[in-house]
Amino acid sequence: MKKTTTNKPSLIPKMYCNLFGHDYQVTKKVTYHVKEYTCRHCRKELTTNSNGRLIELTPKFREINAILERIHNSRMERLKRKAVTSSIYRQVVQSCE
Ligand SMILES: [Zn+2]
Repeated sequence: MKKTTTNKPSLIPKMYCNLFGHDYQVTKKVTYHVKEYTCRHCRKELTTNSNGRLIELTPKFREINAILERIHNSRMERLKRKAVTSSIYRQVVQSCE
């Protein structure tokens, strides 16, 4: 009979991190300044707060980041559209003068 290895080896990566420090990778770019990071070993998640400091990614901050991302994306969309409209607008104004 096969032994099922359901035990997650969560202790070892944590020990590794305690000894060598976390190895964070950027997992998500929320805005230009806010990013989400995950440790490759223990899966600990961090994010950038409003002061530019790294803090633990709690469910609350995950929510904030989701909102930030939505605002950022819609702003980028609007900027793109605005740039197009304003250049058209300028052409119209100039042709009327
Ligand atoms: Zn870690």
